[in-house]
Amino acid sequence: MQPSPQLVKKNKTKMGIQVQDSHGCCGCGSGCLGPLTFHSEAKGQLVTLSEDGRRATRDTTSFRHGLIFSSRPLRIMEKVHIRIERSVRAWHGAMRVGLTSVAPGSTTIPSLAIPELTNSPGYWAIPVPEHQCLPRSELIFWVSHCGTLHVKTDDGQKHSLKTRVDTHKPMWAMIDVYGQTNAVLLLGSIKKCLFTTRRSCPVPTVEPTDDNCGYSEIPIKTVERMMGQKSLGEPGNQENLSLPCSQNNSQNTSNESMEECVVCYSDIANVMLICGHRCVCSQCALRVFSEFGSCPLCRHHLHPDHCYKGT
Ligand SMILES: [Zn+2]
Ligand SMILES: [Zn+2]
Ligand SMILES: [Zn+2]
Repeated sequence: MQPSPQLVKKNKTKMGIQVQDSHGCCGCGSGCLGPLTFHSEAKGQLVTLSEDGRRATRDTTSFRHGLIFSSRPLRIMEKVHIRIERSVRAWHGAMRVGLTSVAPGSTTIPSLAIPELTNSPGYWAIPVPEHQCLPRSELIFWVSHCGTLHVKTDDGQKHSLKTRVDTHKPMWAMIDVYGQTNAVLLLGSIKKCLFTTRRSCPVPTVEPTDDNCGYSEIPIKTVERMMGQKSLGEPGNQENLSLPCSQNNSQNTSNESMEECVVCYSDIANVMLICGHRCVCSQCALRVFSEFGSCPLCRHHLHPDHCYKGT
């Protein structure tokens, strides 16, 4: 008896042999939805693909230029499964998930899905809230029979787009690896029919580990740009960042200089806030500014327009 094509393929993939599939004929049998990877050419300027085109990583020097598309159109009710692998604690907003009826590769790729693409016909996208895009979290998205784009996150919450998608045209997946999200992995897709369940071609399992999932470093250049000052990268300044102090910065902080960050508990607290508390690391300082707006120790209000100043 011949082994099933699915098994042959699985074993080949296990042995590290690249299985080349011709379009629409993957050899897995009639139950297969076909291979599902990211489009190798149609991608944002800062995106690199790995894991045989299933992982997309955006360089953290920018929050934009992270657009990616599926390599083939999706079917109606084909649920695409994504894992968010890496985040960066900078910027507002996280990944955007959507669809397009414009064939990837037929137009130039702009830097953003929203609003650059969604302002033109044939593009639809939903921004996924930051707290649902943390490293190791997973989501599924699909288009329903009536043309509604749905995104379902790990916590069971469902986001749906009010505008209907034109389901009469072929529909590619579109993901913007945007803002805080900087690496995503395509886990596969599934389509439940009345009596059968169809899946995309089997692929090697990638377990979430501390190596592939977690928080990415913010490049020091990005911190400088965000905070609007230039001296951060100079020697001596990186260990001693502080805010321009106004009223009550008279507190003696010299004996606290080697304290650990009260947000992440892993890095040295090298940023002094306006209240005089040297309590956060440079990575967490950005989050403290953008998300909390106050000192984690004394709740002193931090003005968003205050910038760091090397001392
Ligand atoms: Zn297949
Ligand atoms: Zn920290
Ligand atoms: Zn404080």
